[in-house]
Amino acid sequence: MTIRIYNTLTREKEEFVPLRDKKVGMYVCGPTVYDFFHIGNAYPFVVMDSVRRYLEYRGYDVTYVKNLTDIDDKMIKRARELNISVGELAERFIREYFVDADALGIRRAEFHPRATDHVPEIIALIQKLIQKEHAYPVGGGDVFFDTRSFKGYGKVSRQNLEELEAGARVEVDERKRYPLDFVLWKAEKPGEPSWDSPWGKGRPGWHIECSAMAMKYLGETLDIHAGGPDLVFPHHENESAQSEAATGKLFVRYWMHTGFLKMGQEKMSKSLGNVLNIRELSKRFGGETLRFFLLSAHYRTPLEFSEENLTSAGTALQRLRNSYENIRHRVQAREALGENPNESGAGAERLLAEVRAGKTKFITSMDDDFNTGEALGAFFEIARSVNTLLGQESSPPLPVLRQIREVYRELGGVLGILTPEARDAGLEADLEDLIRKREEARRQKDWAQADQIRADLLDRGIVLEDTSEGVRWKKALPPVGAR
Ligand SMILES: [Zn+2]
Repeated sequence: MTIRIYNTLTREKEEFVPLRDKKVGMYVCGPTVYDFFHIGNAYPFVVMDSVRRYLEYRGYDVTYVKNLTDIDDKMIKRARELNISVGELAERFIREYFVDADALGIRRAEFHPRATDHVPEIIALIQKLIQKEHAYPVGGGDVFFDTRSFKGYGKVSRQNLEELEAGARVEVDERKRYPLDFVLWKAEKPGEPSWDSPWGKGRPGWHIECSAMAMKYLGETLDIHAGGPDLVFPHHENESAQSEAATGKLFVRYWMHTGFLKMGQEKMSKSLGNVLNIRELSKRFGGETLRFFLLSAHYRTPLEFSEENLTSAGTALQRLRNSYENIRHRVQAREALGENPNESGAGAERLLAEVRAGKTKFITSMDDDFNTGEALGAFFEIARSVNTLLGQESSPPLPVLRQIREVYRELGGVLGILTPEARDAGLEADLEDLIRKREEARRQKDWAQADQIRADLLDRGIVLEDTSEGVRWKKALPPVGAR
């Protein structure tokens, strides 16, 4: 079986064949680091993280690149508002990006290039475009891409160029040869960061940074280039045009774009207000729940963001987690008893067959354009079979239990859920807080308060142990056979 990917370029599902055997070069447009990123940004970040995990699971050697846009109009504006330098702003929100990405279980890329570290590469690419007469400097230090000089302009987004042209004419820049031409290099404005260039001091336009950095780390043709739906035009159209104009080669074999996250439901905006950034949402719902929610449907179908949907995602995830914890504890308990080579559990063979069938279904779903929604459905079927058997009196033999636990780990690893990191993220900060409060209550000899906190934690499955080195917490084992 091979993987099929819906390619925005051809508007078709195609068999995935990387350029170089099992090696995959994948570039995802990353955040502009002027603020905390929000749930809309998180959607493609999480989906593409799972695409990467799945490709690795299927034996591909993926080089994953995700840029950090650390210079643009928004960066400059925000730095002014906060009265700090653009560099300081970038440092701060790059740090914050990784905190939130960790909460969502988004793995680090092989490369997280920053635009401001790649100005020489960007300038070289613009020079090449000028040489090939695909770009032109105008008076004052700006350089534009000549969209009419590139025959394939419009092929990624399939935009109606005449309509776009008419729209662009409304605020046409007299110095452009054609209304759709876009800026590659912007002349310096007073008080803005700038770099020396053959056209005078200035800074790169947004689109050119991704072309320059993608080609530096992945070569002139990428296997996969991905982002949110709002990036198709103009960002990816322009990236494609300028890269192909410069190299004469296909820039991207498979363009992938997530669907829209539907927002602005009245119900939601009332309860959640405008707090849609991941920092706030993961405090409230947990990063793993947010991730689960973003993977709960196929990535190209629109996903409706609402408090209700987040809450039910949390409940569903908990069901899956309970099933996994159950099997994990069962394995631990049986290992403690020592292996018994003669044991044979009734129904174990049937259970294994069901689990294997579920795993095959999971893989088939993921092969079909990374349908995480269906894959999760298969995962839940596995959990149902497992819960049923574990609820019975006789337990399957240890090797069978271990195999089942391994399946949970594999499938959870592909989706980035049920991982040890996900289990502890979010929980810890909250726990430490409660443990401190209880310590304080004990110091004040407020035993009622201290006991109440201990009881509340026990309700959440956390056991506190008072040891000579202080308070330790651990998770209570769920009762064997619990659903
Ligand atoms: Zn980009």
